[in-house]
Amino acid sequence: MGKKCREYMGEINDYLDGELDPTICDEIENHIGQCENCRIMVDTLKQTVVLCREGKREALPAALEEKLTGLLRERWNKKFGK
Ligand SMILES: [Zn+2]
Repeated sequence: MGKKCREYMGEINDYLDGELDPTICDEIENHIGQCENCRIMVDTLKQTVVLCREGKREALPAALEEKLTGLLRERWNKKFGK
C-alpha cells in the first residue's frame, strides 16, 4: 500500500458513515476504482458496518420472521410427524 492509501484509510470510516465532504468522497471512490487493496478494505468495512447496524436493529422484520418460523415448523412436522 502506498502513502496515498494510508491517507485514505483515516477518511474511509467517515466515508462509510456518509459524513465526508462530497469532494473527498469522489476522491475515495476514484481511488477505490483503481486500487484493489483499498477496494477490498472498503468492502470488508462496509460489511462490518452493515452487520453492526443490523445488530442494533430489532431482530428480523416481522414478515421474514414469520416466514422463517413457518418454514421451521414445517420441517419439524415433516421430521417428527404431526
Ligand atoms: Zn489504495
